[in-house]
Amino acid sequence: MKRTVIIGGVAGGMSAATRLRRLDENQEIVIIEKGPYVSFANCGLPYYVSGEISDREKLLVQTPESLKARFNLDVRPFSEATEINSEKKQVTIKSAESTYELSYDQLILSPGAKPFIPPLNGLEEADNIFTLRNVPDVDKIMDSLETTKPKKAVVVGAGFIGLEMAENLAKRGLEVTIVEFASHVLPTVDDEMAAFIHNELVDNGIIVHTEKGVVEIEDKGRTLILNTGEKIETDLVILSVGVRPENDLAESAGIELGMRGGILVDENYETSVKDIYAVGDAIIVKNQITKNDAMIALASPANRQGRQVADVIAGMPRKNKGSIGTAIVRVFNQSIASTGLTEKQLKDLNYDFSIVHIDGKNHAGYYPNASMVFLKLLFNGKTGELYGAQAVGKDGVDKRIDIIATAIKGGLTVEDLPELELTYAPPFGSAKDVVNMAGYAALNIMEGISQNIQLHELEEVKNSGALLVDVRTAAEFERGNIPGFVNFPLNNLRDSMSELPKNKEIILSCHSGQRSYIASRMLEQHGFKVKNLDGSYLLYSVVNR
Ligand code: FAD
Repeated sequence: MKRTVIIGGVAGGMSAATRLRRLDENQEIVIIEKGPYVSFANCGLPYYVSGEISDREKLLVQTPESLKARFNLDVRPFSEATEINSEKKQVTIKSAESTYELSYDQLILSPGAKPFIPPLNGLEEADNIFTLRNVPDVDKIMDSLETTKPKKAVVVGAGFIGLEMAENLAKRGLEVTIVEFASHVLPTVDDEMAAFIHNELVDNGIIVHTEKGVVEIEDKGRTLILNTGEKIETDLVILSVGVRPENDLAESAGIELGMRGGILVDENYETSVKDIYAVGDAIIVKNQITKNDAMIALASPANRQGRQVADVIAGMPRKNKGSIGTAIVRVFNQSIASTGLTEKQLKDLNYDFSIVHIDGKNHAGYYPNASMVFLKLLFNGKTGELYGAQAVGKDGVDKRIDIIATAIKGGLTVEDLPELELTYAPPFGSAKDVVNMAGYAALNIMEGISQNIQLHELEEVKNSGALLVDVRTAAEFERGNIPGFVNFPLNNLRDSMSELPKNKEIILSCHSGQRSYIASRMLEQHGFKVKNLDGSYLLYSVVNR
């Protein structure tokens, strides 16, 4: 009987195992997992900390017994694969009871990624510093919360897990401080979109330090020293500064590694060593938009790859088409989601791209509890190729980013976005959904109907002598405006047009971009040179709060 051995029994590993069994009743499938649990809900761990998920058992989705009963899987927890002999096709397994060799016909590695631990002075002596990857990690955090009753916590790193931990610790009543080395929280989105989340954190009592890093730890972890010289007193620390592929086993087996130590695989997930496959957070994938190598540590690709590698092993034609990286995080009452490439990535890659920011509603504005969905779309202004999107809001950002992620995966372009026919009744959406609106706005850019500048370009445009015109009402302008703008309300603009210069560029702004767009159409047809400030006063006020 053939035997497939799988190293790592969570997202990628267990997807591979169960799919393989559904395709083939006649082989032995052995899952080696060094931790105590397989198929646990790692994504749910932060919510257990606040009690939002109150039942620990709910984190344990499957057990070795249930997997044996339903799928006839030989699941071996507390077992670590320590060596691979690819000549003999054997893996060395170390368990509490023994060390033994296990032969394989095919080996699948799905070892995941481990939290990166920065080399900080004083880390070794600290007894209150935690990382979060698995159930034993969350047990340690819960134990510390219950026994030492900390009042203050510092979360180092404001990525997805860091933000989730900050929220959940705050919900437990701790005073939480975030320290993030990048210029803004959630470095996987662009700075102006992250500003919404920064404000939400601050509004919920979180102290946020950006552009600062922890450089030293004192008093057994009770004092953190930042690169600015500041000291933060704390009772508990969560280190969440990114992950690194768990590649030791692969490396020792002579498997070729690539960027950041990720495992290189071909489009059938086979590594450089025959009959050894790899999936999940530990592998290098192709970014589907740039075709460049990428490491994307997310659950959806890991699960898909696990299933696909089982297909390959069962002899089905299945190729890894790559990933685009679609992610979401909730931070108190706001959620932020992203897909594809960010503005920063596009700039770094020297792409020619255009941007629109759209302010829409999660459902019909007149229906109760409508809330804002603020969406940023990145695209090629000539071909309409969709590069990426980010959205922030209270409700409905998942739906919009999922639609755009689907559009990118399906090869749709800007021109297709207005064509999307999406579900609509007042409690659910709008007849012109934010995604349709983003398509209209992007098409206007592509077809030369409107032009825009970004907020970060405003200073330069202002210095080049452009006139800055805000077309909101006088009352709105009085309540708050962007320095340098003068007020020409839209409804009087036809009458006051003669006061505007034709020999200067005019930058138009309003609340969120709709009225300035109407003004731009009017003025342009009268011979003025106009551009819209994308995101308008709304974005300015969020970024400059
Ligand atoms: P894992 O699921 O990490 O499984 C790898 C397993 O292999 C581990 O259990 C490890 O113990 C085992 N292993 C490693 N080496 C060996 C060895 N030598 N011998 C035996 N066993 C070994 N993604 C999202 O998309 N959305 C989210 O909301 C989200 N939230 C997350 C929250 C947390 C706290 C964490 C930690 C991750 C989160 N992720 C999220 C990421 C997601 O969980 C991973 O992308 C996914 O689990 C990767 O699957 P994998 O199979 O590659 O690795």
